Amino acid sequence: DTALDLIAEVPDFPEPGVLFRDLTPVFGDAAAFAAVVDALAGTLDPTTELLAAIEARGFLLAAAVGYARGLGVTLIRKPGKLPSVDGRIDYALEYGTATLELPAGTVPAGSRVAVIDDVLATGGTAAATCALLGEVGAEVTGVSVVLELAGLGGRERLPAVRVHALRVR
Ligand code: 5GP
Repeated sequence: DTALDLIAEVPDFPEPGVLFRDLTPVFGDAAAFAAVVDALAGTLDPTTELLAAIEARGFLLAAAVGYARGLGVTLIRKPGKLPSVDGRIDYALEYGTATLELPAGTVPAGSRVAVIDDVLATGGTAAATCALLGEVGAEVTGVSVVLELAGLGGRERLPAVRVHALRVR
């Protein structure tokens, strides 16, 4: 579909040997952006009560999906951005570690939450987000992404979660 054909491939970013998928052209095209937002909204489990957006492109997508579906959004953030957090998780990257934080008071225990991001690669980021949501007693209704990079094991890192991707490459 033409909206997803706007995803650009950038060799050797952010480091040599990595083929970075750039969604900037999708966001910049009104029709493509609308199509992607509508398609992501269509992947949501109907019991979903809240969206969890992963910094930073997940914020953009989840804001639009939330508006379209009448759902609020909580922002899963990189460390040091939030004045008060309900949870924090460290997870392994290929080199080093990363941390994500959950803003205090945004996810009631028992709430049904869908995770939104642009790209699923190794799945580490999404798996950490799901674990963080689980720690506060939320139920993850699914992980929805625009692009899944197959062969990096992302889906396997999320065995208990329904993963929706608009495109698999
Ligand atoms: P993972 O944790 O699944 O390895 O990486 C996913 C996270 O890194 C997502 O938050 C995603 O935004 C970012 N990411 C990894 N690879 C790419 C890529 O090729 N393009 C974009 N836009 N983001 C990526």
